Amino acid sequence: MKLYNTLTMTKEEFEPLEQGKVKMYVCGPTVYDFIHIGNARPLIVFDTLRRYFEYKGYEVLYIQNFTDIEDKMINRANKEGITVFELAERFINEYYKDADRLNVRRATRNPRATEEIEDMINLIQRLLDRGYAYVVDGDVYFRTRKFAEYGKLSHKNIEELIAGARVDPGEKKEDPLDFALWKAKKQGEPAWISPWGEGRPGWHIECSVMAMKYLGETIDIHAGGQDLIFPHHENEIAQSEAATGKPFARFWLHNGYVNINNEKMSKSLGNFFTVREIIEKYHPEALRLFMLQAHYRKPLNFSIDLIQQAESALKRIYTCYENLENLIKNGTMSDSSDKELQASLEILKARFIEAMEDDLNTAEATGYLFEMVREINTHANTCSKEVLIFAKDILKELCSILGILEQYEEKKDEIPPEILELVEKRNEARKAKNFLEADRIRDELKSLGYIVLDTPQGTKVERVK
Ligand SMILES: [Zn+2]
Repeated sequence: MKLYNTLTMTKEEFEPLEQGKVKMYVCGPTVYDFIHIGNARPLIVFDTLRRYFEYKGYEVLYIQNFTDIEDKMINRANKEGITVFELAERFINEYYKDADRLNVRRATRNPRATEEIEDMINLIQRLLDRGYAYVVDGDVYFRTRKFAEYGKLSHKNIEELIAGARVDPGEKKEDPLDFALWKAKKQGEPAWISPWGEGRPGWHIECSVMAMKYLGETIDIHAGGQDLIFPHHENEIAQSEAATGKPFARFWLHNGYVNINNEKMSKSLGNFFTVREIIEKYHPEALRLFMLQAHYRKPLNFSIDLIQQAESALKRIYTCYENLENLIKNGTMSDSSDKELQASLEILKARFIEAMEDDLNTAEATGYLFEMVREINTHANTCSKEVLIFAKDILKELCSILGILEQYEEKKDEIPPEILELVEKRNEARKAKNFLEADRIRDELKSLGYIVLDTPQGTKVERVK
């Protein structure tokens, strides 16, 4: 498979270092609030990459951290009058709720920064011992210029970087490019004991530590949003490689930005959506499909119109699958289209895989998936049971790489028990030929947002959108 490596700015053939085992690290959220649409993109994209690796038979070690100590955490906790720990607990829980509904598979491990402090102190000590770091009044800084390859990920030279570097008041750095590995305790902040006095770790050091602790000193893939390339990932490389003398990550993968209504996402512009708001109104898989209909490296524009379109598209897949199930159960009149459908599905599947092999081109792959749906819809009525099962399996197989069509069974079960009870009552009324009562219940169901359909296979109830 080819993957675009930000480090080399080329698509490279990917092979894991250890045969059959992919070790990947994805920067996780700072857990101070609900995740927003922008946060959802790396989750969905890199979960899809993981699914694809697993589909190809690799074992994937997938580590995604929770940043649970950071300025935003401290500010929000103070504002709410709770501890940083309580805030983290709350939003880690909320994170799992959203991620689960988006069919994001649970990581092999989700380490939390505050539980890894000792290892961070050890790494900082290693950097001090090797002369890559220095202590000033309880702060510890990384000596950026000493790491000759600094800038190799963001492809910037030191002069450009200096022009953009900022020194915050109160910082006593040797050089504007240096960055904090450890921050001395300030009033009202949580702090841990270290050889340099009480304090807390800087943000960058946590990812270096967690990646190397759980995956080893050289990992296969490090991924995250484009906004993390500089300075976060650049600093991660500097710290890790300065300490170990080995390459830190072989492939660096970055997803593009998400804009809202063609503008930068911003709370003050009203251009801001949490994942929760969207998946409460739309099928969570619609958000997933929407994100995958673009190439992960390209910028992506989100709007309500577009999510509605993605939801209709998703519905086409579900309907196609459901039709196949019904036809398999009930049979068709002829098998005259067997060869045609089978052949075109095989071609489309090969193209789907080819697109995925080319830098995870889900934009093209989803296109082939919809061609499959069209082919199935055209020919299913004149196919044998055998070919219908073949079509159903292939659809399921490819959808599961993308992480959609996973809530099919769940969707069926989604009808609440009180609604099913009313449907049952209506059936009884119909059996007793009490059609007035049956119609009354039908109207009641309708007012509750459900329609009943009397089909030859029995009564079905569906939620009205
Ligand atoms: Zn990170």
